[in-house]
Amino acid sequence: MFTVFGTPIGGGIVTGRACVVESRLIDVPRYRLAAGAAEAELERLKQAVEIVTAELQDVAAHLTAGAPSEARALLDVHIMILNDPALIDAACDMVRLGLVNAEWAIAEKAEELAAQFREIDDPYLRERGRDVEQVTTRLLKALAGSRLEVFRREPGEALIFVAHDITPADMLQLKGALGFLIELGGSNSHTAILARSLNIASVVGATSASKLIRDDDMLILDGETGVVIVNPDEFVLNEYRERQQLAQLESLKLGRLINVPSTTLDGQSILLMANIEQPEEAVEALRLGAAGIGLFRSEFLFLNKSRLPDEDEQYRAYADAVTAMQGRPVTIRTIDIGADKTLAGQELTQTGASALGQRAIRYSLAEPDVFLTQLRALLRAAAHGPLRILLPMLSHSKEIDAALILIERAREQLRQQGKPFGETVPVGGMIEVPAAALSAGWFVQRLDFLSIGTNDLVQYTLAIDRSDPRIAHLYDEFHPAVLRLIAGTIRAACKAGKPVSVCGEMAGDAAACALLLGMGLTEFSMHPASLLRVKREVLRSEVSRLVPRVRRLLAIDDPVRMRASLDRLAEGREPLATRRWEYAKDAKDAKDASQRDEQAVP
Ligand code: PEP
Ligand code: MG
Repeated sequence: MFTVFGTPIGGGIVTGRACVVESRLIDVPRYRLAAGAAEAELERLKQAVEIVTAELQDVAAHLTAGAPSEARALLDVHIMILNDPALIDAACDMVRLGLVNAEWAIAEKAEELAAQFREIDDPYLRERGRDVEQVTTRLLKALAGSRLEVFRREPGEALIFVAHDITPADMLQLKGALGFLIELGGSNSHTAILARSLNIASVVGATSASKLIRDDDMLILDGETGVVIVNPDEFVLNEYRERQQLAQLESLKLGRLINVPSTTLDGQSILLMANIEQPEEAVEALRLGAAGIGLFRSEFLFLNKSRLPDEDEQYRAYADAVTAMQGRPVTIRTIDIGADKTLAGQELTQTGASALGQRAIRYSLAEPDVFLTQLRALLRAAAHGPLRILLPMLSHSKEIDAALILIERAREQLRQQGKPFGETVPVGGMIEVPAAALSAGWFVQRLDFLSIGTNDLVQYTLAIDRSDPRIAHLYDEFHPAVLRLIAGTIRAACKAGKPVSVCGEMAGDAAACALLLGMGLTEFSMHPASLLRVKREVLRSEVSRLVPRVRRLLAIDDPVRMRASLDRLAEGREPLATRRWEYAKDAKDAKDASQRDEQAVP
């Protein structure tokens, strides 16, 4: 029995078997096959060889006329290695006779072959050992992908997936998982957000997990504390069973709040809405009493697709969400592609994938046909109920002007095609870049509403990559600079008489509820699983007392003092530090934590 630590993402406590889906390539998964499983494993290996051959042929076919002749020769060598009986046939024999998995066999035989090359005196031939390693890397990658495929196609027993990383796109296909334990990612990475919205118990930033854990290990994964116990004994299992029962009891109690109006002690009505990634999630949001959808991350419809969904497909998805919400507003954000969310086939060039690159509205404006298709689908879906369009990652008022022109053009196109559409569709903007927060008063004149994306606002204000576990301890949504930007945005919208909400993870953090209410916020949007916890906080709050306290608090410059004052504001409520790294932990603490992971061997 040993313990691994990471950043908790929520989803409660689960107990189940580990499935290490995507080991890092240096760490080749090795396991024995059941008798009779060899044929399927050989087929998997054959397919991996086919995939890699096709990849190499594709690269060769796309070599430009000016490419050096060595490039073509090198690709030929790689294809030859792939067909070398000393590698593939020998690996197949090992799978068949030794009943071991394909990765194990390939790694073993590749090492033997590379060792033979290393013995050769001729420097050119000696280098070919490196080619064997490169081909092997490709093969192992293809095998890792196919392992994931097997689980996607045949989700048998609910498993806890352990991985170095899982992209949001992959996670969407593993919805039946019992839990996720991931080495990369911070608590606000998109993978973490998706896990939260799927309500699957998850821990991220667990630095050594896939090195320490093996397939079929029994795990207790506590998504609330970030603790994962590997191969627990009976005593620990019983302890966690009790905790699970307590959590179920708590959720039963919260369930009684579903139909209670969300009103503060002094009678302020607070709108609690849901964030969703797929239209079908609207049903659960409605069941839990959501007043609407405050954020539909439409890009999740685009991930995993070999081609972009056409207008009709998108229209149906948006109309489904609108219809499911039975007259409540549905806010659909135009695609926010980039950073850790990429389209299938989209080049992972440095700028293309970067959080500072061609992301969100920048991508849409650079691809007007893709944008117009989405806008037409949105306007058509608006004929079914109150739909609002939300523009992500605005940083310049020209982006608003350009988007509004394209929305008008989409309307005109639908008019010409004689297709019905919603005539009045409010258009709002996300405030998630400091420049936008500081310009909120100016932006809001052109927009119908604002929505504050605290996840990115923190990332861009503090210059902290929200997906990087090495600096997760520095990610602080309660930093005075961030809080001032949020408060200023709320003030600007209220002054202009326009609605404003917070739709970042902060809105779903019950510990932040009093603070946001004290800033004058009346609209929150969060993943559905948080709705009732936040409602409980609203019911206990008195806005008239919170407002002056929060005003005083916003004058604090020192982040450590801010944290102490927030603790006092939250007295008797959910403690601030329950679901995140405690503030003021410095890099040394983070390093200690990862050293603990390293030492956590049995
Ligand atoms: C945010 O940045 O707070 C937000 C809601 O958008 P996303 O998390 O999808 O970037
Ligand atoms: Mg964002």
